[in-house]
Amino acid sequence: MSESEPVPIHTEVLDGLALANELRAELGETITKLVGAGNRAPCLAVVLVGDDPASRSYIKGKQRACGRIGMESVEHILPASTSQEQLLALIADLNGDDGVDGILVQLPLPSHISSAVVAEAVDPAKDADALHPTTSGRLLAGTAELISCTPMGIMAVLDHYSIPMEGANAVVIGRSNIVGKPIALLLQQRNATVTLCHSRTRDLAGRCREADILVAAVGRPRMVKGDWIKPGAAVIDVGVTEVEGKLVGDVDFDAAIGVARLITPSRRGIGPMTITMLLRNTLLAYRNRKGV
Ligand code: NAP
Repeated sequence: MSESEPVPIHTEVLDGLALANELRAELGETITKLVGAGNRAPCLAVVLVGDDPASRSYIKGKQRACGRIGMESVEHILPASTSQEQLLALIADLNGDDGVDGILVQLPLPSHISSAVVAEAVDPAKDADALHPTTSGRLLAGTAELISCTPMGIMAVLDHYSIPMEGANAVVIGRSNIVGKPIALLLQQRNATVTLCHSRTRDLAGRCREADILVAAVGRPRMVKGDWIKPGAAVIDVGVTEVEGKLVGDVDFDAAIGVARLITPSRRGIGPMTITMLLRNTLLAYRNRKGV
């Protein structure tokens, strides 16, 4: 190899399901001990409005994951015609139900229901999805215990691969309340220098090329090209879009191989980690509420 040729980089591809299973096994052990000590199992209430097949399959996956670690789950499937008042009444019941520790309202909601109003209706002590403004305010203040599931899953991946964050340039594409903003805060709390990009960012490619850690949470298939990636960067691809029956991420996965140090695939990537953090939040909410 000549001196000018770049050294090929070995790219690790995250097996999100394997890592998720490791973390879930630890949560399961904790639940087994708590139940063995005479406590009831923690319980997640899952609410779905409408019959969107993708949402139905997401909540089934979440409930299966609960069952596998000894966590209870109850589902409330409401018709798409449900009014906002009816949904708020159900949430009030779940808030008052001592047997429910975490509440998840599956998004998206029908257009006649405000997801912001619904997020504010959930008791912050049971906010398993971490969408209540009180919960996000605590994240801003650096005092949060319940943290948005996808961002917390991303941090667990970065820690698993010992990706250095202190002083690193982190670039986040996307500024949603559910992914972009909270992951930017978490990275900044770990002393990364964070640039939060969005649809009006100028020279997005140039920004990305400076990233030691690049998080793409947009929902535009293969938007991030291979030459946007700094050699040796850790690339977290959150985006999932169905294209011709296949799930495609925001990053050109094939082009990232040999350039990135770490890449997350769109299947068995961040998705299973997100569910794991939902379980983690529910267990934490249970322990905080019960003082165990
Ligand atoms: P969202 O609320 O639609 O936000 C998308 C963000 O991308 C917005 O901030 C938008 O900018 C930005 N954006 C759009 N076009 C852009 C462009 N050309 N250049 C730069 N930025 C652009 O999405 P989300 O809820 O965060 O989800 C993002 C993706 O992650 C989706 O594919 C979703 O399915 C996926 N997701 C996956 C998981 C998982 O567990 N795997 C969890 C959550 C989300 P503006 O703010 O300027 O409009």
